[in-house]
Amino acid sequence: MPVQTAREHVVALCLELSRRGYFAGTGGNLMLRIDADRVAVTPSATDYLEMGPDDVVVLRWPDLARLAGERAPSVETSLHARVLRARHDVGCSIHTHQPVASACALLGRALEVPAPWRATLGPRVPLVGYAPSGSAWLASRLARTLRPDTHAYLMRNHGILCCGADAAAALRALDDLEALSSQHLVERIAHQAHRTGQPALWRVIDALHARPAAG
Ligand SMILES: [Zn+2]
Repeated sequence: MPVQTAREHVVALCLELSRRGYFAGTGGNLMLRIDADRVAVTPSATDYLEMGPDDVVVLRWPDLARLAGERAPSVETSLHARVLRARHDVGCSIHTHQPVASACALLGRALEVPAPWRATLGPRVPLVGYAPSGSAWLASRLARTLRPDTHAYLMRNHGILCCGADAAAALRALDDLEALSSQHLVERIAHQAHRTGQPALWRVIDALHARPAAG
């Protein structure tokens, strides 16, 4: 893929992620493998609705030296680099604070994945233990959790990371993780509502069901 095409692709991807409500303002970031020697990464602290292709940072692979782009690369660059280093099948890694899956990440438990979602997510969505955003500690915690058959990860009290062979596969994982998380929360809240008889809990379930589908 030519470098400029990759940078344009990252801009389009960020706009799509913002449209779906997965990126908000400057929150969320991603890395795209361009070829064997280069990756593209979102710039740090940049409004994705204002970003142009020249703002996308191009890094040399695998030492991450900056080849193009005036801005600093995302603070989560080393997080994504861990994924692309460990998983040669992965061409795109995306970190978001998408609303429902991030709520699941607050619960502090891995999610078992039912059959329909296993192809995009893997057998289980593991929980990566909490570490501060942008820290080497967070990157190494994720690296220890990475599995070859798992494309979605909950990052405790922070957000999520999904990966795929290309951007389209990573996007499908984000959508499926949001749907699985919604189902999981509805089940948990319904259980609690039956147990306690609190009408407010049913209103939460209605609100989760009323969320417009992404895509
Ligand atoms: Zn984050």
